[in-house]
Amino acid sequence: MEASNTCDTGSDLKPEVIYRCKKCRRIVASADQVVPHQRGGGQRCFKWKKRSDGDAEPECSSIFVEPMKWMQTLEEGCVQDKLQCVGCKARLGYFNWAGMQCNCGAWVNPAFQLHKSRLDECRP
Ligand SMILES: [Zn+2]
Ligand SMILES: [Zn+2]
Repeated sequence: MEASNTCDTGSDLKPEVIYRCKKCRRIVASADQVVPHQRGGGQRCFKWKKRSDGDAEPECSSIFVEPMKWMQTLEEGCVQDKLQCVGCKARLGYFNWAGMQCNCGAWVNPAFQLHKSRLDECRP
């Protein structure tokens, strides 16, 4: 595991956060499966769809995770599709091997995006 330079605030000790489906409480990801991204790092990546609002950085509305077994459409070989909870079929997010942009402006590539609003963040 290579440690990328961290811009995160106070992430020295990593809390063991578990993300569950809000509807059926099925565990969909844990903190160590979350792929961190540098907020607002969009400018130096792709030029198309450039975001240049100088406002305060928005809170990321989603998390990006590693590809996981429960992502069925992924197993079927799709390049991009929605991510559904295996338990209740709720739509939890979207994935795209070519990458996606977080609402903070950062590009994540490949991207397995889960919306925080669909998840329960459980801290012990
Ligand atoms: Zn973000
Ligand atoms: Zn569910």
